[in-house]
Amino acid sequence: MKIAIFGGGVAGVSSAIALKQKGFDVSIYERHESASNIGAGIVVWPNAAYVLEQLGVLNEIEAVSGHPTRMRRLSSTNENLGAIDIEKINSHMGYPSLSILRSDFQNILISKLDSLGVAIQYAHTVTHIETKNPGQAEVHFRDGSKITADVLIGADGRMASCARRYVHGDNAPVYQGFINWIGVYESEEESFEEIAVADYWGVGERFGIVPVTKHKAYWAGGVACADIGPRNQAEYKAELDSIFSNWPQPVQKMIDHTPVERINKVYVHDHNPIPTWHKHNLIVIGDAAHAPLPTSGQGACQALEDAWHLANCLNDNPHDLQQAFVNFTEIRFEKTVGIIMAARGFAASLFSRDENFCMARNENSRNTDFAKVAAAMSRGWSQHLPLADRH
Ligand SMILES: Cc1cc2nc3c(=O)[nH]c(=O)nc-3n(C[C@H](O)[C@H](O)[C@H](O)COP(=O)(O)OP(=O)(O)OC[C@H]3O[C@@H](n4cnc5c(N)ncnc54)[C@H](O)[C@@H]3O)c2cc1C
Repeated sequence: MKIAIFGGGVAGVSSAIALKQKGFDVSIYERHESASNIGAGIVVWPNAAYVLEQLGVLNEIEAVSGHPTRMRRLSSTNENLGAIDIEKINSHMGYPSLSILRSDFQNILISKLDSLGVAIQYAHTVTHIETKNPGQAEVHFRDGSKITADVLIGADGRMASCARRYVHGDNAPVYQGFINWIGVYESEEESFEEIAVADYWGVGERFGIVPVTKHKAYWAGGVACADIGPRNQAEYKAELDSIFSNWPQPVQKMIDHTPVERINKVYVHDHNPIPTWHKHNLIVIGDAAHAPLPTSGQGACQALEDAWHLANCLNDNPHDLQQAFVNFTEIRFEKTVGIIMAARGFAASLFSRDENFCMARNENSRNTDFAKVAAAMSRGWSQHLPLADRH
């Protein structure tokens, strides 16, 4: 079975690995000229660590990752709002949680794919997809070339997926009313005593810091913003200062000591759930199918889960593609919708401009039973994976 994947991000590269390992004939196309990474870093939660182990890269990923112990919540005036014990999640699920820079993560996946004899074909921008014969999609690239295959996998991301447009008729993501500036901080000096996530909550504003080592972290500063506006890198520091200059010292340190070239500004979008991810011989996966907000912390993790499940579904139904696609959707739909919706709820609370609401939210957090939260997160993220259920 010949399989062509377009989009060389987390979903595309990890599915290429999973499918090649099962013996499929895989090719993969990416619009960029070479490897490039959006985002600063990710937390690989245990559900994703399980998939990375199946792909044979967990040890390598772990070697360059941090092992965060806690996810601390603090107010913008540095009051303690409680903490989720990440080690509890790990022990419920039986795999580690790892903080890693996006570039390290993607490079490890790409070299694994290389080692399997599959090279990403860069500079291949999909422009549109047509139905060629009944039941067969044909993918057209900007340079005038086109491809078909027995199976086409659209992993072309959240912002303008050609695969989503082909399947669903529309591919417009939904702007969710907030901006994230994301950055990578590195320093010679030891900056973090503990590898613990620090999540500072203000009113309509939020700043999260995720250490990877004692010297290195990635971070995201967010603010509610009704409309999509300009992105001018030269302005990013001033924009951040105008919001966060009175926030606790670690926040200021991230902003002051991150070179502006390592800061990006994102008007944050997600996707409304759609019930169908496939048409003819094409299926859409990853963000193109079910992009959640970054408040889920699960976008890349869910892309990895897609890769593993899709390879299994295709392997189990080699002569019935439609059945493979139906099985995949049945496994993945409910979990990904739950994550999209929960992330919207969390973002609405974090980016609320209502001071009274935010005071009550912080009070609620102080009174939260975090052991229950860790157990609920573990249960949700373990869904449809053979993970230890020790809670
Ligand atoms: C600000 C921000 C912070 C985030 N933080 C986290 C986090 O901490 N943890 C986490 O798990 N997730 C996080 N995510 C989500 C995560 O980045 C995505 O969910 C994940 O990358 C999805 O993988 P993907 O392969 O589907 O999409 P992508 O990684 O976006 O890859 C899509 C690929 O398709 C290519 N492509 C697009 N269009 C075409 C075309 N027409 N032709 C050919 N190629 C094309 C792109 O160049 C890209 O390489 C964050 C997202 C954002 C926006």
